[in-house]
Amino acid sequence: MAAVSFHRTAASHTKIVATVGPASGSVESLRQLIEAGVDVFRINTAHGQPAEHAETIARIRQASAQVGQPVAVLVDLAGPKIRLGEIPGGQMQCQTGQRLRFVRSDGPLLPGELTTSYPQLMDDLQVGDRLMLADGTVGLVVRSRSADYVECEVVQPGILRSRQGVNLPGVKLSLPALSEQDVAAARWAAQQGADFLGLSFVRRPEDILMLREILGPYESSPQIVAKIEKPEALHHLEAIVRAADAVMVARGDLGVETDIAQIAIVQKQIVAACRRGRKPVIIATQMLESMTHEQLPTRAEATDVANAILDGADACMLSAETAVGEHPVAAVQMMHRIALATEPFDRPRVPAADESIAEGLDPVTEATARAAGQLAEQLGAKILLVATATGATALCLSKYRFRTPVWGASPSEAVLRRMCLYWGVVPLPDAPTENSIELLAYAIRKGRLLGHLQPGDRVVLLTGSDVTGRTHNMIQVHTVPASLDG
Ligand code: PEP
Repeated sequence: MAAVSFHRTAASHTKIVATVGPASGSVESLRQLIEAGVDVFRINTAHGQPAEHAETIARIRQASAQVGQPVAVLVDLAGPKIRLGEIPGGQMQCQTGQRLRFVRSDGPLLPGELTTSYPQLMDDLQVGDRLMLADGTVGLVVRSRSADYVECEVVQPGILRSRQGVNLPGVKLSLPALSEQDVAAARWAAQQGADFLGLSFVRRPEDILMLREILGPYESSPQIVAKIEKPEALHHLEAIVRAADAVMVARGDLGVETDIAQIAIVQKQIVAACRRGRKPVIIATQMLESMTHEQLPTRAEATDVANAILDGADACMLSAETAVGEHPVAAVQMMHRIALATEPFDRPRVPAADESIAEGLDPVTEATARAAGQLAEQLGAKILLVATATGATALCLSKYRFRTPVWGASPSEAVLRRMCLYWGVVPLPDAPTENSIELLAYAIRKGRLLGHLQPGDRVVLLTGSDVTGRTHNMIQVHTVPASLDG
């Protein structure tokens, strides 16, 4: 990784996830998006081929090196998501009352015929069942069925595009958690060094464990992001949060599979569960949707982003806005500006001392991290510096939401990229992590050179007798000297 440049003079604590697509795939576009505030790029494997995705990952790594800033890659697996097949011409307009037929054909389709990625759907559908297509924008009701087709009536008109999602609210499907394509895509993503793997339509914690087992043999396996979009997942929320490494509130499908009137409350419940379980949580879908075509968001969208941050979200995600939108960079800049305007009104969320500690976290580290954050706040420190072998200590600090930016150093590039999703954590590449005096000198030098630190500013170092070891048991407070050599 090239020298740290920290192009963003005022990076937001809130992380920005941007979906890559035709509007954002070139190295130049990716570089502009990183400079505008993107921390994590999402690749949706529901669209495109592995060879294209591999090129996209290579371009992301190239853009990240050019900017001199770690950026993570999140590969989204389709999971048990049913999708439309190819629609001749790519899209079709559906009118109320129009009849559409689901057919089994692999060959060319007649006008009004549709296929899906789940051929057994034809057997599962009953007369009277409701189908919601294209994120719930188009509604159908099954009117009749035969051995060769299922005939539906359009009850909610709209435009259908190839490979858009098919939801059957309230219908329990016996689809496996991972299709053969998901398993192949998961292995591919691990080989490509993806940092996060999003699993769509998680229903139970076992779904995550199954994916973890598949990823087991890979040396640096991606962190698993559980996408919450089914009512079943809400019934097992705490266990899913425990099993996953991170969570996404996937509001596109969630708003179709559950009652959209409850979506704000469900979002708050998921975010709270992630705070209790100390897992990063991403709020996704339609955050600045109108910026897909417009230069500015609606008032409601700007408020939605701000409220997600105040709820306690670690990251906000852009989908169509950056994948196919007309103003991808402006959308990221807008999200970044809303985050900067909102964060001063957020507050630290330090749990009571007797609140249970997240599994796997050393209690000494937990207590020392909490004290370091409180000390940094009280002294108005400009940076809380931590060396972290796995990222766990940085995540612990992140979930407390102290205002002091956490600079996370790690000898592992994978851990540096993982920290891109952690609220308030700035990954610090190329830092000497073996020795706390050298680490501090490096961070102060970087901070001075890049204008983040001035003489007299305070830096709090959270460290341990064994600097990159598991336990953090020491806090040091330093004052930035007048001279860079001081
Ligand atoms: C969603 O449903 O909100 C989501 C993020 O998933 P996808 O984009 O894969 O449909």
